[in-house]
Amino acid sequence: MAQSATQQAPTAALSSEADIAAEFASVPCDNGARLDATRALFERMGAPADAIRIDRHGDVDNLVVVKPGASADTLVVGAHYDKVAKGCGAIDNWTGVVALAHLYRTLRQFAPEKTLVFVGFGREEHGLVGSRAMTAAIPDDQVARYCAMVNLDSLGLAAPQVADNMSSQAMVAFAEAVAKELQVPFGHARIGGANSDSTPFVKRGIPALTLHGLDSNGLRLLHSPRDQAAKVNPTSVYLGYRLALAMLARLDQAPCTAQRGG
Ligand SMILES: [Zn+2]
Repeated sequence: MAQSATQQAPTAALSSEADIAAEFASVPCDNGARLDATRALFERMGAPADAIRIDRHGDVDNLVVVKPGASADTLVVGAHYDKVAKGCGAIDNWTGVVALAHLYRTLRQFAPEKTLVFVGFGREEHGLVGSRAMTAAIPDDQVARYCAMVNLDSLGLAAPQVADNMSSQAMVAFAEAVAKELQVPFGHARIGGANSDSTPFVKRGIPALTLHGLDSNGLRLLHSPRDQAAKVNPTSVYLGYRLALAMLARLDQAPCTAQRGG
């Protein structure tokens, strides 16, 4: 989408904080129900049933929705839909799935330059299984067509932050600049000992970053019985959505090599 198109967009294209908040009235707490719930959410956001596909790689299912662009240059935006056994997985990572689906809802209303690929990753909690499978399946001669990847994992407690240890340096600087421009509060917080679905993209040579919305309290809450919908601060999810949206709008207009320093 052109930036000018974004500015001229009907306000309805943007999801409101209330729209985002409403999603947390019902969070699917059963891991086995999450893939279907992710699909249902995308359908509610306007995805035609035949635009939603499941990419099965061995024992993992990634849910993929493509918004074709003018070119085959590709931007990936993702969030894992699976959860650990404990808790409801509301913060980790239904917040990311909600932001992802609302990004789809907004962006599907534009004609992007680049092809936008929305991915709900499976089995992140078992070692980034879905994102590793997706990146491994990209043929070597296609890697350069992947301009950037934005990953959303565990929003919902504080201002958006970039997990520096899971992100490309250029993408970190870019996220910070966009946040400043939007006047969205923003921080850096590496999450020691943890990983997320941006890392396999970084390792494949694709510029990528993970945005989260955790505070020090949140780190204790993750993977615990206390990860419940009532803990979600919708403002945090909304700000993550707005920051990711602005980043994607700018990446769409930029040369594909922009985040590779070329
Ligand atoms: Zn997670």
